[in-house]
Amino acid sequence: MNNRIYIDSYAYVGKRGPKDVEAQYETEALLEEMEWTGIHGAVIAHSEAKEYDPMYGNRMLLRELKKSPRLYGVWAVMPHMTGEIPPPRDLIKEMQDNGITVAKMYPRAHRFPFHVDYCGELLGALEESEMLLMVEGGNLYGNDVLEPTNQVLVNEMDAVLTRFPRLNVLLQGARWDATRFLYWLMAKHPNLVLELSTHQGNRAMEVFVKWFGAERVLFGTGALEKSPGAAKAFLDYCTLDEEAKQKIASENIVRLAKLDRLPAAYRSRGPRDPILARAKEGKPLTNTLVIDSHAHISHDDGGGSGFVHSLYSDDKSMRERAKLMGIDAMCISGFLAVWTDYEEGNRIVWNAMKRFPGFYHGYAALQPQYVKDWPRELRKVHVQYRMDGLKPYHPRTLLPYNDKLWDPWYEYGNRMNAYALIHPSPNLVAEMNDLAPRYPNISWILAHTGASFRDARNGIEVALKNPNVYLEITLTSVTYRVIEFMVKHVGAGRVLFGTDQPMRDPIPQFGWVVYSHCTPEEKKKMLGLNMRKIMNRVKRKHR
Ligand SMILES: [Zn+2]
Repeated sequence: MNNRIYIDSYAYVGKRGPKDVEAQYETEALLEEMEWTGIHGAVIAHSEAKEYDPMYGNRMLLRELKKSPRLYGVWAVMPHMTGEIPPPRDLIKEMQDNGITVAKMYPRAHRFPFHVDYCGELLGALEESEMLLMVEGGNLYGNDVLEPTNQVLVNEMDAVLTRFPRLNVLLQGARWDATRFLYWLMAKHPNLVLELSTHQGNRAMEVFVKWFGAERVLFGTGALEKSPGAAKAFLDYCTLDEEAKQKIASENIVRLAKLDRLPAAYRSRGPRDPILARAKEGKPLTNTLVIDSHAHISHDDGGGSGFVHSLYSDDKSMRERAKLMGIDAMCISGFLAVWTDYEEGNRIVWNAMKRFPGFYHGYAALQPQYVKDWPRELRKVHVQYRMDGLKPYHPRTLLPYNDKLWDPWYEYGNRMNAYALIHPSPNLVAEMNDLAPRYPNISWILAHTGASFRDARNGIEVALKNPNVYLEITLTSVTYRVIEFMVKHVGAGRVLFGTDQPMRDPIPQFGWVVYSHCTPEEKKKMLGLNMRKIMNRVKRKHR
């Protein structure tokens, strides 16, 4: 076990709305999970300071902080002119009196201009008193469909960082599709630092450290919405050296937030679960079959795919990354194949399968709008290319999955006992309840079922009705406790590990499973045994 001290720079406690009945929120739950994962301290904000009233929530936070010396507090702040919060000097004095050294601004949620004119007096006072400022970033270009009230925009950030060059700003919750904006902001402003719990871009830890140094990347989890184990694994399994890992784990936040004490180490004997024990050491799983049931691939030495930055996305790089965790095999579809050009994209997958036989297994992608000769195409992907998987894709065809245009493919897949990976569509439940009984020999894998408890409930409903339906987990949301929820309702035999790599880094998705509160036997089924069964059912003779 390593001796690193971990301090989470991005966590919330307190009630928030609308919350799923299953989602956790209590400080006690956070503290328990911190001990489970081996996170020693956390810098926490109160949801009511964000969602109700800053000062009301800030005072509630003070009560929560008393529950453990492992907790450090963040106060929500805003400009004082409208009479809702003390003027900057009084506010900062009150923060300091309460041991608070971190401020956070929510310009979207609190509906004020994040502009140097309006916020200048407050930002100047924060800079002068050397407070760390936190803001939440989303994709930085607006229209963030996932969190419309959260994000600051790239131009606002640039203006604030330019005007206050000694104000340290921690950008939280920035997404992987913001990478090119983040590069510009970070290259221009040395006072900007970043946490990666929502970014999770492929090799993001290594990429941002290479670009800007380990001093500018912080460990953050997004708890209790996100699985803290996902973020911890991301740091533990990445290939940075020990010095860099220590900076990211806690040294940077201790320096920037001027934390006056370090949290104590845990005195536990180490977990009994051998999978969790390996994870805590950041070591690859051995004697455990691990198959990534949902992955992609892009072209050799590719830089981007589907609009976004995506380095290290070719077969060689992905295999190298997979080895860190002990992933034995990957079921891949071509990014290009689902995105715009199935013929070119399938060829990329076929090349990877030939170069790494037994490691890469192909999902064929076909777009009915472009298919001219079904028998010819089906022979090519399923016989010549030996792809056992089907990847119809709604977002880039806009066809419902039960549209009759797909039928020739499903009929063929049904004859060969294939498996099909289904990305969500607007009417997924109805479409799957129609398809699964009509094509009973296909193993239907519902992708991204762990996206939220709501998505999990939809998946559970379909899986309970149809024995040939499986629930694959992956999404950046790494919803805390949702894997346990799915296992409780459909059993571990119906839940599959998947990563969506190389769009997302595979490590956080792996961490989400291995740090879950499921038994080692359940984890083994999800990590590989289930997918092996699905793959072994496919008939070789049909060809
Ligand atoms: Zn995908």
